[in-house]
Amino acid sequence: MTEKYQTRIGRKALSALAFTLILLTLEGSSSALMHQGSGSRIEKRLFGKLADGTAVDLYTLTNKNGLVAEITNYGGTVVRLKTPDAEGKLGDVVLGYDTPQEYESGTSYFGALIGRFANRIAGGKFTLNGVDYQLAKNNDGNHLHGGIRGFDKVVWQAQELRRPDGVALRLTYLSRDGEESYPGNLSVTAIYVLTNKNELRVDYTANTDKDTIVNLTHHSYFNLAGKGNVLRHELKLNASRFTPVDATLIPTGELKTVRGTPFDFTRSTTIGSRIGQVDEQLTRGRGYDHNFVLDKGGKQLSLAAVVFEPTSRRQMEVWTTEPGMQFYSGNFLDGVRGKGDDVYNQRDGFCLEAQHYPDSPNRPEFPSTVLKPGKQYRQTTIYRFLVRGVQKQP
Ligand code: BGC
Repeated sequence: MTEKYQTRIGRKALSALAFTLILLTLEGSSSALMHQGSGSRIEKRLFGKLADGTAVDLYTLTNKNGLVAEITNYGGTVVRLKTPDAEGKLGDVVLGYDTPQEYESGTSYFGALIGRFANRIAGGKFTLNGVDYQLAKNNDGNHLHGGIRGFDKVVWQAQELRRPDGVALRLTYLSRDGEESYPGNLSVTAIYVLTNKNELRVDYTANTDKDTIVNLTHHSYFNLAGKGNVLRHELKLNASRFTPVDATLIPTGELKTVRGTPFDFTRSTTIGSRIGQVDEQLTRGRGYDHNFVLDKGGKQLSLAAVVFEPTSRRQMEVWTTEPGMQFYSGNFLDGVRGKGDDVYNQRDGFCLEAQHYPDSPNRPEFPSTVLKPGKQYRQTTIYRFLVRGVQKQP
């Protein structure tokens, strides 16, 4: 082989190598770009152990704009939700704890999925098909949020999903016939989707093998400023009526107009502006702890609420298919030790729980919460995050 020939081969090999390198680099950068472009991802890690040693996980969902939702399969609980403020700085807008065991012993239902029946059932009693059922009386003589061990205190099966609209976590749970004294095996699915439109969407479905009652909701306590009380948050609720309650927070049955009452949020009003007024309903709730009758509720996905926080300029919209919205102004928070060094005091968070009305099983005039075999329970609720004043938003 001549030197010239060797050099020619060497050159050929070199240029082939260079070509391959260029291709590889291009491919590398294009997948990096694609990664940046599609950007959304989901990661799983151990969250910790429950008191009985059961390990539970924490899933971190990140959308293509960098919003983050951390969700554990214990109670289907949103532990952290990070959204941008006016400066583009991410901040956590939900209350919660650092460890699974604090969720286990906690009584505030921070960020959890609530079932089989959200909110209260009077005396824990209801009758279905002529059969009387007695549920746990775990709140002032009434049944609250599914009983002693509701869906917020069970381990859900989790599956990570990648979808064109964002990233998702699919949670499933089989609530056995007789669990917490409810009839029927109820198979429940809740899919949390962190969409690229900056929404945290929850799609619920449930099926039963026996007539039963179902009312599911999500129980995040929001604070769009990240800390302090929520009294300066401005709230608009598309509800011209609400369900007044008795002294134990059970609806009296009346659908009362909000007009002329501190419950009128049909125009954006700060949560704190009337909360201290002398009003029988506010006294009974220790503030707002009432179900609002959504004007467009129960038919199709509609805008139910808008909340705006002026210092961060964060705005949250709540869309739902449900007929009611429990607006709870964190009245029972009393120095709860939460994430980091945070201590949550009364009114440091608010909940907007899309649901059917409390005590529906004892109120045939309210939209029904009965689920029969062969029918599917379906609910969608969306929490959408924006920054007021920013023109272009996803
Ligand atoms: C209820 C409140 C209760 C809170 C936390 C809300 O859904 O309406 O009365 O204190 O959940 O348990």
